[in-house]
Amino acid sequence: MNMRVMDAPAAPANVDPLNRLFDDLFRPMNTDGVYARTGAYESVVEALAALISSKREEGTEVFRFPPVMSRAHLERHGYLKSFPNLLGCVSCLEGSEAEIRASADKHARGGDWTEGLETADLVLTPAACYPVYPIAAARGPVPAGGYRFDVACDCFRREPSKNLDRLQSFRMREYVCIGTPEEVVAFRERWMPRATALADELGLPYTVETASDPFFGRVGQVMAIAQLEQALKFELLVPLRGKEAGTACMSFNYHREHFGTTWDLRHDDGEPAHTGCVAFGMDRLAVALFATHGARMADWPAGVRAALRV
Ligand code: ATP
Ligand code: ZN
Ligand code: MG
Repeated sequence: MNMRVMDAPAAPANVDPLNRLFDDLFRPMNTDGVYARTGAYESVVEALAALISSKREEGTEVFRFPPVMSRAHLERHGYLKSFPNLLGCVSCLEGSEAEIRASADKHARGGDWTEGLETADLVLTPAACYPVYPIAAARGPVPAGGYRFDVACDCFRREPSKNLDRLQSFRMREYVCIGTPEEVVAFRERWMPRATALADELGLPYTVETASDPFFGRVGQVMAIAQLEQALKFELLVPLRGKEAGTACMSFNYHREHFGTTWDLRHDDGEPAHTGCVAFGMDRLAVALFATHGARMADWPAGVRAALRV
């Protein structure tokens, strides 16, 4: 009997092997890369946060930032030059009650209420450390010994994807160092072995490699090559799909004097401060744990559960 085309079995789809974890970790929220998180998943994110806090260096100041930040500040950061494609900007209905009502009521009539939106003075924060530099700069010259900060934020990047390890809305935790070039280099050299030790505690396989940021456009490619040549960025990559390139779960970044000059963040002698950060992708790390050890936490290796106290 001839099968009609419609009844023929579909060719095996090119499905991401991580998808098998979706129901244990997330619920859809009608948009790729924006998900409700299950209790089990969230308990792992909380345990990771506590484990990372336990590694905090003495003298580190803590800040937790809201998911939005000043648009003017982000413009000054140079984000529009580097990553305009990833930016989300807040827009709102402004005006009198009548104007707002008129815009909103378009929706009920099948019209486009968003035509009335006006750009607000806010953007969605794309990285946890951005808001800390203007806070430090407002204090005047950087004190001897520099600053160390512990920051975290719900971050947004417009990179919709079906992959569980690339979200539009995700949590980032960072330790940040502001100081002399020597202080920032030493900070990174302390944190790289500490971070790999953390991955060992979590039972995650990994490689550490030099990396570049996905700077936008042609000019961006030149910036990325310079970043690679100067080894300004390293990533800790965890293989989540067999032999395929690993997923960046942490990054180690040396910005040189970029934020120092941008924010007039200087030492007593007028030299711009250097800055660096170590970033933990909280959602990436949680997905990596489930991908590596399985969907049921009860089955995870005892050492990993002990490290996380789950
Ligand atoms: P990638 O190369 O994977 O896009 P990135 O270089 O853009 O990563 P960073 O800007 O260094 O990442 O951000 C710090 C960390 O935040 C990353 O190492 C990763 O763990 C996490 N992260 C970045 N983008 C996402 C995303 N879209 N979804 C989930 N986590 C992310
Ligand atoms: Zn940072
Ligand atoms: Mg990226």
